[in-house]
Amino acid sequence: MKNNNDQDDDTITLHDLSTQQQRSDVFGMFFTSKSNFTRDGYHPSENDAVITRKKRTFKDARVEQLLRQISTQLFFAAKAAHAKPTEVQTMFIQNDMRSNLYIACNDPAVAQVIYKIINESTLETVLTSPCSYGGMKKEGRKRSPRYAGKIRSRVFAEGSARYKRYKSDDPTDHAYMQSLRQLLAARLKPTEIDMMNESSIVKSLLATSGVHIITKCPTTGANKGRHAEEWLNDISERIEGVDYKAMFGKKRPCITCSGRLLGSDIDHNPNPGFAFKTRFIHQPPEIAMRSLQIASTKHSHTTDNGGSGYGTDSDSSLFCSSDDEDSDSTANDLSESDGESSPDALRRLVFK
Ligand SMILES: [Zn+2]
Repeated sequence: MKNNNDQDDDTITLHDLSTQQQRSDVFGMFFTSKSNFTRDGYHPSENDAVITRKKRTFKDARVEQLLRQISTQLFFAAKAAHAKPTEVQTMFIQNDMRSNLYIACNDPAVAQVIYKIINESTLETVLTSPCSYGGMKKEGRKRSPRYAGKIRSRVFAEGSARYKRYKSDDPTDHAYMQSLRQLLAARLKPTEIDMMNESSIVKSLLATSGVHIITKCPTTGANKGRHAEEWLNDISERIEGVDYKAMFGKKRPCITCSGRLLGSDIDHNPNPGFAFKTRFIHQPPEIAMRSLQIASTKHSHTTDNGGSGYGTDSDSSLFCSSDDEDSDSTANDLSESDGESSPDALRRLVFK
């Protein structure tokens, strides 16, 4: 993960972010709406260009690939159950011999639907079934069966039926991917986490293995407009110094979530999507400042394939990570450099 924690003194603009009004005003200074990209997303006005990501290979990032596939399949399952998901994110924590998976949505009501679907069926069934629903976009109609098949052959199939090429070129990634695979193949029933009940969080962290879904969390006041990544980060912050943490969703983290993740030890997509005003003005001042730090050092990113617009059900859309599939043989765009800004073009914030 790349951070831009460097302080620089070439441009000094200090903003008071104490009140919602101040954060709203500062948001207007830092962000620009680009209606042809998103319905209500903004991008940093200083880093004007929105970076378009190309396809990449995941042959050395299997954990990331699998977490994204899980998030996407759960997103589709929620849509098929008539819920209205905005985002699903999945976090894997490997702590010594403990392996735990956490699932969160922006809206806890959607997470409750996902919990119910899995509980009444099995996680295996949900992940390995092609999803379809009225109004599903063409891209999603292709993606869901593809992910279902890959998860089936890579995770749940036994012996020779298992997809032979599913190994990681990175030995560490390979080891964690095997651990994640075993966790899923254990076919555990999900447990619920109530973010207002500390013991339910601690219990999950102490579990040998589990699939935990955040089904209850506050949604008003400072929590208004909070995204899945922030809830998962709350859990992550309770346990530090573990072997490995990774969080990947259907979409790339937005700028406010990236601000929250700045400096965290969670492996996540370093290329943020857009910024959302409602969340920004409700973030605590110190977190909002970190979101500005992201906005001052990074571009918004989008992807060159898939649908268009906020309502797309494609994970390759505007907010979303690029597609991977079948890219074992089409290794391209491994470089992260195309998405990074030239330092010369960047403003720097100085923090007191
Ligand atoms: Zn977000």
